[in-house]
Amino acid sequence: MDEGRDHPPAAGSGPPIAAGTRLSPVQEAWRVYVRHEQRCAGCRGRDGRCAESTRLWQAWQELDGEVRRRLRGA
Ligand SMILES: [Zn+2]
Repeated sequence: MDEGRDHPPAAGSGPPIAAGTRLSPVQEAWRVYVRHEQRCAGCRGRDGRCAESTRLWQAWQELDGEVRRRLRGA
């Protein structure tokens, strides 16, 4: 199950991340979410977003919110 692995990233998805670059947990969560959407037939369909995509998006939101709270509290 690794279909789509060679697909180029969609336009507008940002610059490619160099191999070996260390991502923050937020960046990593976002990348996982974007990568899922690029590969998932359900997300490309007319229903827009599948349950897995929603879960990944929420995981990113939680991480992002946590970082923002931490920055505010610092
Ligand atoms: Zn999906």
